[in-house]
Amino acid sequence: MKKTEARTGAILTIDLKALVDNWRLLRDRVAPRQCAAVVKADAYGLGMNRVAQALWNAGCKVFFVAQIEEATTLRKRLREAEIHVLNGLLEGTESDFLAQNLIPVLNDIHQIRAWTQFCGQTPRPCDIHLDTGMSRLGLSPEETEQLIADTDLCQALAPSLIMSHLACADSPNHKMNSGQLEEFTTLRQRLDAAGLRAPGSIANSSGIFLGADYHFDLARPGVAIYGVNPTPDNPNPMAQVVRLQAKILQVRTIDTPRAVGYGATHRVWGPSRIATVGVGYADGFLRTISNRGRAFIKDHRAPVVGRISMDLTTLDVTAVPEQLTQPGCMVDLIGPHSTVDDVAQAAGTIGYEILTGLGNRFLRVYSNGPGA
Ligand SMILES: *Cc1c(COP(=O)(O)O)cnc(C)c1O
Repeated sequence: MKKTEARTGAILTIDLKALVDNWRLLRDRVAPRQCAAVVKADAYGLGMNRVAQALWNAGCKVFFVAQIEEATTLRKRLREAEIHVLNGLLEGTESDFLAQNLIPVLNDIHQIRAWTQFCGQTPRPCDIHLDTGMSRLGLSPEETEQLIADTDLCQALAPSLIMSHLACADSPNHKMNSGQLEEFTTLRQRLDAAGLRAPGSIANSSGIFLGADYHFDLARPGVAIYGVNPTPDNPNPMAQVVRLQAKILQVRTIDTPRAVGYGATHRVWGPSRIATVGVGYADGFLRTISNRGRAFIKDHRAPVVGRISMDLTTLDVTAVPEQLTQPGCMVDLIGPHSTVDDVAQAAGTIGYEILTGLGNRFLRVYSNGPGA
């Protein structure tokens, strides 16, 4: 049976206009350089198909995903988009890349050799990923030297991009930023001299805000499109995209001292009201938010009290007008007064993890989209 407002314990609303406005803000910020969109992990939990379609309609032509499976799904939706696969060329998938017109990010020298061998006389689009400080994916400094020394290999490649990834872009004063920028610039010059020339890309969301030196030819923002603050030391320039409203299932009026929830970690002493809402850690409302987070009912604050359980969260609504706390009333767990970043802070994590952890049991509503 279909999820309906009556049947659901929570509504997740994804504001497609805010999403598109955010992408446009980033696009304008890097203009005249190009702006892509990273839509890996189901567009950071918000639904890749709907998100990518909205961005495509707004003029975004270049997309990044992590996995080839994600790229296959996206290709079905967007026949003309340029799709890059960050996790690289897994052995045996070369023909999938070719058949679906996907661009592999070549992350080591073996992947580079495998791709050139597979392509033979016809160089095909690929990205060369240089590791300049993450020690994660990308050519190690030794592999980059091997590539530079091998002019035949350099000339057999026709990359769409030479890219790298910043480790500390959200800390503008971190010395890693300028160090990686300098190394990337030098390596590109040396590859150029060896006959390998391609547009550059190093900026994720936060990297865009480090300034034009970091923009190169293409920026690859993800999280800022979805409303998370890419400049954590400053006010958020992005619009909120996500709202998570939970339904009040029951309200308990308490007159004599009593415990709330598993482990009895919260005690109520005086007269108070505790509302139980239908969202728990199985929905991505993390257990570390227990006794720390806060919800809002209109402008009224309702602290999370007691432990968050699998399907339920308890809120102290003593200070909230009673007519707003009846069973069936909705409470903002993520909303105008409690942003993804606020929830992340209460949970002791980052907005990325809150978004990608959002569960599948909500009624999902896409608002302000085409035709809305
Ligand atoms: C995820 C990712 C991005 C996007 O990063 P955000 O911080 O979400 O903007 C860009 N580049 C690479 C290589 C990534 O893995």
